Amino acid sequence: MQTYDFIIVGSGSAGSVLADKLSASGRFSVLLLEAGGTDRRFYVQMPLGYGKTFFDPAVNWNYKAEPDPGLAGNADHWPRGKLLGGSSSINAMVWIRGAREDFDAWAAAGNPGWGYDDLLPVFKALEDNQAGADAWRGVGGPLHVTDCSDAVHPLTKRYLAAGQQAGLPLNPDFNGAAQEGVGVYQISTKNGRRMSAARAFLRPAMKRKNVRVATNALATRVLFEGRRAVGVEYLQNGETKTARAGREVILSGGSVNSPQLLQLSGVGPSALLKGLGIPVVHANENVGAHLQDHVGINYTFKGRLPTLNQTLRPWWGKLLVGMQYILTRSGPLSLSMNNAGGFFRTDPAATRPNMQLYFQAFSTVIPKSGERPILTPDPWPGFSIGLSNCRPSSRGEIMIRTSNPRDYPRISANAYSTEADVAEMLDAVKFVRKIASMPDMAEIIEEEVLPGPSISSDADLIQDFRKRSGTVYHPVSTCRMGPDPSRAVVDPRLKVHGIEGLRVIDASIFPDNITGNTNAASIMTGWKGAELVLEDQK
Ligand SMILES: Cc1cc2nc3c(=O)[nH]c(=O)nc-3n(C[C@H](O)[C@H](O)[C@H](O)COP(=O)(O)OP(=O)(O)OC[C@H]3O[C@@H](n4cnc5c(N)ncnc54)[C@H](O)[C@@H]3O)c2cc1C
Repeated sequence: MQTYDFIIVGSGSAGSVLADKLSASGRFSVLLLEAGGTDRRFYVQMPLGYGKTFFDPAVNWNYKAEPDPGLAGNADHWPRGKLLGGSSSINAMVWIRGAREDFDAWAAAGNPGWGYDDLLPVFKALEDNQAGADAWRGVGGPLHVTDCSDAVHPLTKRYLAAGQQAGLPLNPDFNGAAQEGVGVYQISTKNGRRMSAARAFLRPAMKRKNVRVATNALATRVLFEGRRAVGVEYLQNGETKTARAGREVILSGGSVNSPQLLQLSGVGPSALLKGLGIPVVHANENVGAHLQDHVGINYTFKGRLPTLNQTLRPWWGKLLVGMQYILTRSGPLSLSMNNAGGFFRTDPAATRPNMQLYFQAFSTVIPKSGERPILTPDPWPGFSIGLSNCRPSSRGEIMIRTSNPRDYPRISANAYSTEADVAEMLDAVKFVRKIASMPDMAEIIEEEVLPGPSISSDADLIQDFRKRSGTVYHPVSTCRMGPDPSRAVVDPRLKVHGIEGLRVIDASIFPDNITGNTNAASIMTGWKGAELVLEDQK
């Protein structure tokens, strides 16, 4: 059995950074196990290829959540990246860090070092922001962030104007002084190609002799000697293999897989493990519990002006944008589907935003099987204003169903299971209609297609968003960080409570969800986690 200093499970947003930072000095050997394969695929590299990878089993775990009473009984599709770069290789690339108050609350909950002022230097150091450096933005870091202000669809201007007419400020940088307002989203790309964590961190690290990346390698169990993690068992090409960790095993499998692997390895809720015949190494009821996620919905309109639908749908339009992309790495295919967005408060008395907006200059009301039909949108000029909650109070869980590592765990999201979450979403969808009713939007709207004008009472609006909402892919907190072993899975240094030589470093450790998309904070967690690991090495 080969021994490495560190074994990292998962090459996603956090795992890619860890592989880079732990190997950079040349002092330590690193084995990175990734269940998926390469990220060198056209639809992964091309930003709008998102529509293709959304259901593609070659790069996506394609989880299905349990039928959710809060979502009118729907079983939601849960994409997660299964390839180098993990979910950062299939995500929508919106670059949002989260709010100062989010991280300050993490620190106040007993996690020193995780406040905004502690983390701002990390956020700045990891990025190379095209908009230039200032008090909040960084330049010269490994991850390029693109400023799309000049490239977005012309309709975006109308959305920004209508947002201001509805009372929101124009915000030039959601990662800057304040989050509230409408604005153009910064995205994680460079020269028209996706800037995943693999591209920014892992690919450069893979050139080092002390880094070994095993792809198509599914970690099936953490190996223990007593309460010390000493290695990992994994499946590769039908063979069961093991590797030994001289220093630490680090789980970076993400919010679905990290709790799953802990549970499979005997760290988790004792009744669950015993019921499945898994020997309990360390009982902890929090493993897989406290799941938090953002849920969202689109309001879709038929416009009087051409939208991206007219560009992307016809064969000649596809040819044109395809040529534009291949020759100049620009145009709609080089952008996120979310050109713009924003943050707002449903309660004017609240001190900060609780809702996020997305503006998409195209529409995909007509479904297409096995694909999110971004590249073949509706035949009429459609566009959407999307919306998701930021800090919902509903909680779910992710628990294994069997002791077989290849079986997917049970994902119970429990969306809209609190009155507060329903009430704020009701206020929020009304605000989306307010934006649509403002002069700059109203002028160009032919009709509201979804949900449509017949849906207007509170009861109908609630029924509609229960039926049509879904995850916006930001699950967190299933291995949450906290000082109290009876309430958390990892301590503030990301060490698994009650176990030696084992950490979890990915989005699953967020004590609470952040106000915004979770990729930047996951990458930050990888960076900060690597610093903690390195500090602890003699
Ligand atoms: C469709 C989609 C759209 C999104 N859009 C955005 C967006 O626009 N902006 C944004 O900020 N965030 C977005 N997100 C969320 C963001 O990408 C994730 O929060 C972030 O990537 C999570 O990082 P992670 O390191 O926790 O896990 P991941 O990046 O998911 O990495 C986990 C890795 O571990 C591997 N793995 C898991 N289990 C095992 C195992 N047992 N053995 C070996 N390998 C294993 C996986 O294959 C994967 O590569 C989106 C996510 C999705 C899925």
